[in-house]
Amino acid sequence: MDNNQKLKEQVRDEFSEYLTLHRQRKTKERFAILEHIYSSTEHFDMESLLNSMNESSIRVSRATLYNTMELLLDCGLVIRHKFGTAATTYERTYGNENHSHLICTTCGNVWESDSGNLFTPAMRKKIKKFTINYYSMYIYGTCSKCTHAKRVAVYKLRRENEKAQAKKDKKI
Ligand SMILES: [Zn+2]
Ligand SMILES: [Zn+2]
Repeated sequence: MDNNQKLKEQVRDEFSEYLTLHRQRKTKERFAILEHIYSSTEHFDMESLLNSMNESSIRVSRATLYNTMELLLDCGLVIRHKFGTAATTYERTYGNENHSHLICTTCGNVWESDSGNLFTPAMRKKIKKFTINYYSMYIYGTCSKCTHAKRVAVYKLRRENEKAQAKKDKKI
């Protein structure tokens, strides 16, 4: 059994336990949604999830999808991100851990970066009363494209000002 298969079983057990504890029905649609989410490590929004499930011939209603997503969020198997003005995105939590999100505050694009393990053994010791399952970081900044675009804009503006000044100087 490969690691992802093992992980899928583990999250299925966890979800099953959660559903029992919360007196929720264990429908095959709910498990199919979980299984589908854990088949990829990509970020997704509700529309793209619905589309990709349809493409895989998994028939679930929008209502079931929304309702199941709330359960998956509540039991911590899926995490919700709101990156700036972009649509709400989601991603699985397990098997996708320890990465950072680089968010450009100008264009709103998001990149994932593998940050390795940021917790040194000394840091782990300090927070020993807390079991870390995973972490996800947000790093805000400006991407190279936007930095470049800004430089170009500033340069153009300067040139225009210089030209205007030169014209004025000539008139005098
Ligand atoms: Zn940008
Ligand atoms: Zn992510």
